[in-house]
Order: sequence, then structure tokens, then C-alpha cells
Amino acid sequence: MARKTYLIHARIIDGVQDTAIEDGIMIFQGGMTRQKGGKEDKILFVGKMEEFPGFPEEVMANDTVVDLTGYTLTPGLYNVHAHLGLTMPYKPYRFDEMGVAYRSLVMLRRACEALNCGITTVRSAGGPDNIDYAIRDAVDNEMMFAARVIPCGALNIAVGGHAWNNYISTMYNGADQFRAAARAELAKGAQFIKIGLTGGAASAHEGMADKQMTDEEIAAVVEVAHGAGKRVAAHLGGDKPIQEFVKLGGDSVEHAYHMEEETAYLMKERGTFLVPTLSVTNCHNYLVGHGSPEFQVRKLDETGEAHSQSIGNAIKAGVTICTGTDLLPSDPIDGTNATVREMELLVKAGLTPMQAIKAATSNSAKLTDTIGFTGTLEAEKEGDFIAVKGKPDQDIHDMRNLELVAKGCRLVWSTVPGLKIRRYNITVPGMNVAGGTYMKW
Ligand SMILES: [Zn+2]
Repeated sequence: MARKTYLIHARIIDGVQDTAIEDGIMIFQGGMTRQKGGKEDKILFVGKMEEFPGFPEEVMANDTVVDLTGYTLTPGLYNVHAHLGLTMPYKPYRFDEMGVAYRSLVMLRRACEALNCGITTVRSAGGPDNIDYAIRDAVDNEMMFAARVIPCGALNIAVGGHAWNNYISTMYNGADQFRAAARAELAKGAQFIKIGLTGGAASAHEGMADKQMTDEEIAAVVEVAHGAGKRVAAHLGGDKPIQEFVKLGGDSVEHAYHMEEETAYLMKERGTFLVPTLSVTNCHNYLVGHGSPEFQVRKLDETGEAHSQSIGNAIKAGVTICTGTDLLPSDPIDGTNATVREMELLVKAGLTPMQAIKAATSNSAKLTDTIGFTGTLEAEKEGDFIAVKGKPDQDIHDMRNLELVAKGCRLVWSTVPGLKIRRYNITVPGMNVAGGTYMKW
């Protein structure tokens, strides 16, 4: 008989229901503390204690039973807009002080840090040198114990477009070139295609809402991606370009710095996803502290209020919202990490705490097409979950009280009495989750 683990007397937010399960039980196959393997491990049951008559009669001698009174279980978190290769301050003119080989290691380290912070899936919103594909494969093949990575390869932009002067982007001109770029990324295993449709804060001489791609170019990418059953995500700053992208069949709007109510309702009608990344317009001290150029800080500061209002419009219209940060998923900010901070900002913008938890779990699982095997706590799923002290569906700040992280029914770390375990992925035990670049030369 396969070993089972019983997590009992827990509050459970399953990512599906609108209310938490009180006095819940989650049972899964597997011993939780094993070092490797266990691909067959999965969640067997989630529900109220009283709905599972087999407890404690069915518990076998080698099973584990852990009392989670006072803790809330939620699905593992998602960060669906992150650049694992990000270096701060953002250096223009394609200056690369890190090099491809070292950056690969830094990006892998950050995927490990993300997992330590309870973020079990990261959607890479564009990065250089195919590194996100390599990390995806390394993690999926159980070479490394890190967050699952959903890659898109490069950020595809127009010549001179958003982030043109940094090594993260690749420039194209005309529908044919964009079409070829999308096909090349799909051939490498892209799980979506990312385009830079408008300007942003990255470059000095572009407005946040400047449209930088033609409709023909956008339509070409959408056609190629949809032909392969994949979604198109677009960096989008202004209301009119958002509208045009949605009408051309685009699937996920990233940022939406300026968006009117009418556009929000159009997104709702078409089922377009929104990844607000409120973190990036609410991080003045972070930007200054990392030595960002004055024009970047100014542009993002000036956008903050309009951005919050745009996201408020989207919330009112009932748009499906997901959590992304543009900052590193594990970046320390305001006493927590960027991903949890984003959830708090979404609540400030008008989501209920439960809606913010869904944004960071099931909604993001739908966007990344991982909902079939994770993103919720239900029988047959892989078992990516966290435990926090308190009731985050009542006070979102309780997401800060992380006490346990598991991926694939396998513990990353836990401080829960009866289930204490040190971190055993590749990050240095006890080392601060720095979000840093690890450069000393
Ligand atoms: Zn981004």
C-alpha cells in the first residue's frame, strides 16, 4: 500500500469555492518528505472532516497525520508575469554584465527562490537566450526542485519598440518577421507568445501608451499562436491599443496602465485575461533603492494612480484577473515578497481577499493551461500547496504568514509542529531570499 499523508483540522481554500472549508481534511498519496521520485503521488481527497468517514479508521501504521489547526491551506501561488533574468538597475543599450552562462544559473536560482516563497508556478514573460525553456525542462525532468516555469522565449517587439535597448528583447519589422518569430518560439516549446505592443517605462523616448506594432503584425502573431493552440500576451499601456488587441483576438493584457470602463467590459465579453502587475507602479522606494534612472522612476510614479483606476474598472467589469509582478517573484519588498505584495495591492484596488487568492491560483492556472493538473486543491491533482497561519480570505495580509510549501505532494519546507523540515532544494539553507543578482565582481 502506498503511503498516505493526512492533513487534518485545516481550513482549506480550494481555489474553486467562494468560501473556505472549515475543519477540512486533505489526503494525498506520498510521504511528503521523500527526496525524489513519486510522480504517481497526487491528492486523493479534499473536504470537510465529517465528509470523510474513513478517518481515523483507514490510517495505516506508516501513514503521516498532521494537525493543521490554526492554518489555512491554499493552492500553490502563481506569478504569471515575471522576468527571471531581470537585473536592476535596468541597463539600457544592450549592456550585459552577466553573460549568458551565469545568467542561466541566476535565473534557475530565482526559480528556486520562488518555490521557497510558495510560488509553485512562474510564467516567464520574456527573457533572453532560451534560458526559460532550459529551466522549464530542468524542472519538469526533476533535475532541479524549483517553481514550474511556463516559457515564451523572447519578448518580441518592433524595431525600436519597448525595451529595444536591453538584451531581453528581440526586434522585428513587418508581419512576416513577427510570424517567423512566433513560429520559431513555438518550435522551441513556447507555451504562449509575448509581444511588446506599446511603450512603457523601459526606454526614455517612448510614451506608456504609444502603439508600436501595426494591426497586421499583431494579427499575424495571433494567427500563428492560435493555430498552435497557444495564447498571445501583450505588454499594453494605453486604452485604445488594449481595445485593438482584444478585438484582434489577443488573449492576455499585461499591465493595462490606462484602461477605460468600456474596454474593461469588452475584455469581460471576450474572456480576455488581465495581468495588472500593480507592483511595478507601486514600488518607488524599490526602484530608487536599486539605482533606477530618473526617467523610469518618474514614468512609473506618474502612472500609479491611473493604473489603480484602470484595474478598478476591470474589477467592476468582472474581468478574469491573474497575479504578476514584473519584479522577481521572490523579491523582498515592504516586508514580504513581490507576489504576496501584488495580492495585497489587488485587494486595495477592489478585489476581495478570496478573489485575490483565486487570481493567484485558479485564474492563473487557467491562463497558463495548467488547470488540468494543478492550480486548485481537488482530488487527482498534483498537490502544489502552501499553508499559512490565519485566515487570508478574511485578511489578505495573512498570506505573509507562510509556514509550509509543497510541490507535487512533496515538502519544500515546513515549520508546522509535527512536520518540521529544512529546505532541501538547491538554495543555500538559511540564506536570505535576496532577489539579487549574486554579482561581486
Ligand atoms: Zn514585463
